[in-house]
This record gives sequence, structure tokens and C-alpha cells, in this order.
Amino acid sequence: MEIIDNIHEMQSRSEALKMAGHSVALVPTMGFFHEGHLELMRVGKIHADDLVVSIFVNPMQFGPSEDYAEYPRDMDSDLEKAERVGTGIVFCPTAEQMYPDGFQTKIGAEKLSGRLCGISRPGHFDGVLTVVAKLFHITKPHLAIFGQKDYQQLTIISRMVKDLNMDIRIVGVPVVREPDGIAMSSRNSYLSPDERKSALCMKQSLDLAGEMYARGERRVPEMRAALERIILDQPFTEIDYVSFCHPTTLEEVEVIDGETVLALAVMVGKTRLIDNCIIAKGQ
Ligand code: AMP
Repeated sequence: MEIIDNIHEMQSRSEALKMAGHSVALVPTMGFFHEGHLELMRVGKIHADDLVVSIFVNPMQFGPSEDYAEYPRDMDSDLEKAERVGTGIVFCPTAEQMYPDGFQTKIGAEKLSGRLCGISRPGHFDGVLTVVAKLFHITKPHLAIFGQKDYQQLTIISRMVKDLNMDIRIVGVPVVREPDGIAMSSRNSYLSPDERKSALCMKQSLDLAGEMYARGERRVPEMRAALERIILDQPFTEIDYVSFCHPTTLEEVEVIDGETVLALAVMVGKTRLIDNCIIAKGQ
């Protein structure tokens, strides 16, 4: 496995792979790998000749009072895990290289960036889109793999690729969960054992929504009230949002009459967790 920390070196390496006729898949990450990340890498390997995994904790997507400094990092363990799943190249640039003095360009999605997580994390998705666009220009992939765990991120990136005519296929991978149902996340490492128990309410509320839908419930206010009760019954929890929204516009719906995303953001203690599922899939 090659480890490249220089932007120009990465660009020429990707160019050489393309010239040799190889297809390239990119998995962008912030590191501290768990099974969710590794699943993205496995999918990338299935779809392309060469797999590039980027590891970069992107300062631009963190707000001033968010956890950029504390965000968990473990490069040695990440490199070992990436190698084990057969990654060809790990690209791990420094923040100074990615954002040199004078940097001022950013990409935003007018409407999508302001919904769901965008409400409590202003500027977050500008940071995500900008770094992903930069990573696309640096690694020149044919396809890029993202997790459905970050549903809004996947939606916004798909929109950017379409809007800016980027010739890159975006592949989404279903949420990978712990055996007890909690969605895997690098931020789960912040949870105390008691907070972790409380966090189970997120998956339980997603499941309840599925059950209510199966019993014939279509009214969002009724479903939202039941879900909020499950979440707020637990200690340490505070709801950021319980959103039932359209799968591509992310506009809120009041009645479920087709495929709908149920997205949750909950503070458990000081840790902000997100999860989602799709209701009425394929309808
Ligand atoms: P992160 O390192 O948290 O920025 O995540 C890097 C990529 O892994 C993103 O595309 C995430 O959506 C994806 N990812 C993170 N957690 C999961 C999970 N539990 N299941 C599937 N994909 C995930």
C-alpha cells in the first residue's frame, strides 16, 4: 500500500493510473476507521481497479465550537486496517497543504445545505462540498463511495456532481451498525457506557416508525410525537431534529405518500449523533 501525503504527488499518481487504463475509486474519510469505513472500501474495490482512501480531518467543515481538536485520530491503526482490506493508496494531506494562506474559494448548495444538519451546523456543508471537490480534483476518481449514514451529505454531493458536471459516479453504501443496532460512527468513542445505552433509542425510534408505517400510519405529526417520546424517555438525550423528508430535495413532508427519509439528529450528553432510514422504499 502506498501512502501519499503530497497533493502534487497524488495528482501525478492518479494521472498515471488513468493513463494506464485503470479505473479509480475514491473513499473520502476523516479516519478513525470502523467497519462502516471498511465496508465503503470493500465496495470501492469491487467497482474499480484501484482504490484510493483519503484520510483528512477537514477543519473547514467544523464550526468554531465543534470538536475539530478532539476528533479521534489514529493513523497507525487506520493504515493497518486500510491495508487489510486491500487499499492501494492512502492519501493523507496536511491542513496547511489543503488550505494554504490566501485560500478563499468555497462550494455551497443553496437549498440542501440549509436543511436538517445545516440548521444547527451553519457552513458545515460548504466545508464538506469544498473538500470533496478538492479531493476529486486531486485523486481524479471514476467513482466515489459515500455512506448513507450521512444521508444529507450523500444527497448534497450527488447534487454537486450533477450541477457541476463532474464525471464521477457516486455510490451510496447502506448504514453499517453495531450488533445492538447503533450506527457505527467515529464519534461513538465519545460516549460513556450509560450514554451509549441511551443512544440505542435512535435505532429503536427508526424501527418504531417502520412498524407504525406497516400498521398503516401515514401522518407524520403522529409518528414524530411517538419517536420523540422514545428518545426523550432516555437520560442524556436532547433532540436536534426528527425529520421526515423527501429523498432528494430533503423538503419536510407531513404525510407519507411515497419514499421518505426519516433522519434523526440527537445530542447524547455532549455527543451529536445522526441516523436515518428510508420508509416506503421504492414506492
Ligand atoms: P467520516 O470519516 O465519518 O467522515 O466518514 C467517511 C465516510 O464513511 C462517509 O461517507 C460516511 O458516510 C461513511 N460512514 C461513516 N459511518 C458509516 C456507517 N456506520 N455506515 C456506512 N457508512 C458510514
